[in-house]
Amino acid sequence: MRVNAYAAPSATEPLVPTTIERRDVGATDVLIEIRYAGICHSDIHTVRGEWGPITYPQVVGHEIVGVVAEVGSEVTKHQVGDRVGVGCLVNSCRECENCRAGMEQYCLNGNVGTYASVDRDGTITQGGYSTHVVVDQDFVLRVPESIPFEKAAPLLCAGITTYSPLAHWKAGPGTRVAVVGMGGLGHMAVKIAHAMGATVTVLSQSLKKRDDGLALGADEYYATSDPDTFAALKNRFDLIVNTVSAPLDMDDYLRLLRLNGTLVIVGAPPEELPVHAFALSGQRRSFAGSGIGGIPETQEMLDFCAEHGIAPETELISADYINEAYERVLGSDVRYRFVIDIATLA
Ligand SMILES: [Zn+2]
Ligand SMILES: [Zn+2]
Repeated sequence: MRVNAYAAPSATEPLVPTTIERRDVGATDVLIEIRYAGICHSDIHTVRGEWGPITYPQVVGHEIVGVVAEVGSEVTKHQVGDRVGVGCLVNSCRECENCRAGMEQYCLNGNVGTYASVDRDGTITQGGYSTHVVVDQDFVLRVPESIPFEKAAPLLCAGITTYSPLAHWKAGPGTRVAVVGMGGLGHMAVKIAHAMGATVTVLSQSLKKRDDGLALGADEYYATSDPDTFAALKNRFDLIVNTVSAPLDMDDYLRLLRLNGTLVIVGAPPEELPVHAFALSGQRRSFAGSGIGGIPETQEMLDFCAEHGIAPETELISADYINEAYERVLGSDVRYRFVIDIATLA
């Protein structure tokens, strides 16, 4: 099946409209007519070869929602017409202990990413900036009706990437959570942590997005460019979720943790992040990382967001605006996620 898509022809050229081949719908596959696709910073790193060389042309996009258009003969989990989503993963080994525990993102044999990964048939996976995609039913999520469809897509990466550490480290009533960075990931972390019942503090470079932060559920908002911030917040937080993919001084942030607190990295700076032992041992602090989420937890996150009326803040764009949107993402000029209306690709 040949379908319309927007692809990167090389690491240095803008994305262009093209067509790509989707595989035939196998017995356990679902054909999804894509309606909306979010633009994640990872898309830009990937097409520009910043995370390693890739094969071109490459279609990216791993925040996908759409409607089931066809199912294979053995599909039991989804029906034609269902509202569904696909996130960062489209397959994994399913046999290792992590896969069996529903944590396919940590598959010990390597999972298959939604784009720029080698699929089980040896082809390179192509992502969601496209009118259709074929995905195994086990990696397709249900998108509850109450989540506005045109806003739902960013939940599949930004939503789960922040939900997973907040759930794992038990953000909730009585806990103090700090979110570093008020971007695509950060604004979701604020909404989710608030809905979980935690006291939420945003640590952002400036106070520019303070009104937004407080409106989305933050209790406090501090500028990290103000040196008084780090003194005022010393030994305060149970959990800090760092969404910034630029190198920050980790010791400064670790000292904001109270006894047994954890600083978890979900952004991915290419540089090393040095840490001094005393910043950890002083209050038995932990320095941790977390990557997206498994399939069961992604469904749990979607259901949680539906129950709590949470949806990302988005700006809907047409496909011919993707290259401009990339420049705006790089300039932190989006509140807070671009979503491509795939109808403009049809
Ligand atoms: Zn992403
Ligand atoms: Zn596995």
